Amino acid sequence: MTDYPSLHMIINGEKVSGGGRRTFDVINPVTGEPIGALPLASAEDLDRALEVAAEGFRIWRRSTPQERAAVLSGAARLMLERADDMARIATMEQGKPFAEAKIELMMNVGLFNFYAGEASRLYGRELVRPLGQRSTVRWEPVGPVAAFAPWNFPLGNPSRKLGAPIAAGCSVILKAAEETPASALGVLQCLLDAGLPPQVAQAVFGVPDEVSRHLLGSKVIRKLSFTGSTVVGKHLMKLAADNMLRTTMELGGHGPVLVFDDVDVDTVLDTAVMGKYRNCGQVCVSPTRFIVQEGVFEKFRDGFAARARSVNVGDGLKDGTQMGPMANARRPEAMDRLIGNARDKGASVDTGGKRFGNQGYFYEPTVLSQIPLDADIMTEEPFGPVALINPYGSEEDMIAEANRVDYGLAGYAWTNDVKRQRRLADAIETGMVGINSHMIGGADSPFGGVKWSGHGSEDGPEGVRACMVLKALHEG
Ligand code: NAD
Repeated sequence: MTDYPSLHMIINGEKVSGGGRRTFDVINPVTGEPIGALPLASAEDLDRALEVAAEGFRIWRRSTPQERAAVLSGAARLMLERADDMARIATMEQGKPFAEAKIELMMNVGLFNFYAGEASRLYGRELVRPLGQRSTVRWEPVGPVAAFAPWNFPLGNPSRKLGAPIAAGCSVILKAAEETPASALGVLQCLLDAGLPPQVAQAVFGVPDEVSRHLLGSKVIRKLSFTGSTVVGKHLMKLAADNMLRTTMELGGHGPVLVFDDVDVDTVLDTAVMGKYRNCGQVCVSPTRFIVQEGVFEKFRDGFAARARSVNVGDGLKDGTQMGPMANARRPEAMDRLIGNARDKGASVDTGGKRFGNQGYFYEPTVLSQIPLDADIMTEEPFGPVALINPYGSEEDMIAEANRVDYGLAGYAWTNDVKRQRRLADAIETGMVGINSHMIGGADSPFGGVKWSGHGSEDGPEGVRACMVLKALHEG
């Protein structure tokens, strides 16, 4: 059995802890009990990390594509070797079922391998000029990156935040979520063990507002990469503006799912229910607002609720668990508030709607229907195990509802009408669209949103380019 590891920061490759630093209790969401004490950075720690990151950039911007590829593919191999331990640790601190943590880890292996190849595909272009003259456009690494990763994908978010800058030739200071530090440290350790110079990537933890103000206020940092809520994203963009930092913002979503009369309802439910309760609904691209055409509405709602009731909820380390607890104490509180408000406004609670168990942060898989649009949950990202199902008549009304909210991250539609599929692909205002599919990611595909869901992409070639800047060079 894997033990939860002792916790530290990694600054210049050194494990930093103790020394009178403040600590943060890491909680097992199954029990609500502390499992580790995380040291938090002092201002001196952050200054040291910045100094090291400046040096790391001087070193790594000169690295060859082969060196970057060797580190990334080496780290992917180490992750595979350490897969079971890393996935178990992710489950201990975040709550998701072990099998889900393992899939998350395998996706990171794929991402690091993709980025390893991408490191040698950072082509520029040559402009047409008279003989004897030469003009080229080339991509250069942007500089040291400050990256902030949340707790919902404790392995996946840090891998994205570290992998892209390393492929691009940048250095990076990662502040992963204090709730899930060991997973992030595990990812960074794989990179260091694969030969990454210790100055290039570091991990700090702290009081989030202190860390972000300190790092983004430094002239060393040239880019901010943030995944988290829109409200924090807007705050960080304002801080980033003072130093004119480049930004990649992967913020919240409120995933619309359009389900038309012409579908086989069970086929949709087969993936929609799984998609909804994956990671206890704490997924930015979670299918959330089910916009269902009247002809199949009742069958869809009843089928969804029946399947929700049969989801096996429990400790993610136990065999057969399909949904774990929510990740932290804030989430069940948010669920109670949003579901209570929807109920007060007249929504029907078809199943679930409350916490359960006498310890930890468990919440019942929930289905609400006939929810008035002025209920908070219809505009605020629920980030929990709740499906919102409302009936609609026309395609036009369904599209209008899909695009009603400020978010625009992932949208989904189910229909067998090919012409309608094309219309929907054009009409849905999200950065990613799934037609007859809830799979909208991939190592080679840009992941990101529009509107209040943020800007810029992670993954794909675009994820690496997001850590680079252009230089136009003109030679007479
Ligand atoms: P939150 O908004 O306080 O924090 C979100 C993330 O940002 C956390 O990882 C946190 O450590 C970090 N953060 C907060 N303040 C920060 C600051 N000043 N500087 C730097 N980082 C900061 O809330 P939360 O309770 O952790 O999550 C609540 C909401 O956040 C969810 O309902 C969801 O909408 C959103 N969220 C989105 C994602 C995503 O994948 N896009 C992931 C996690 C949370």
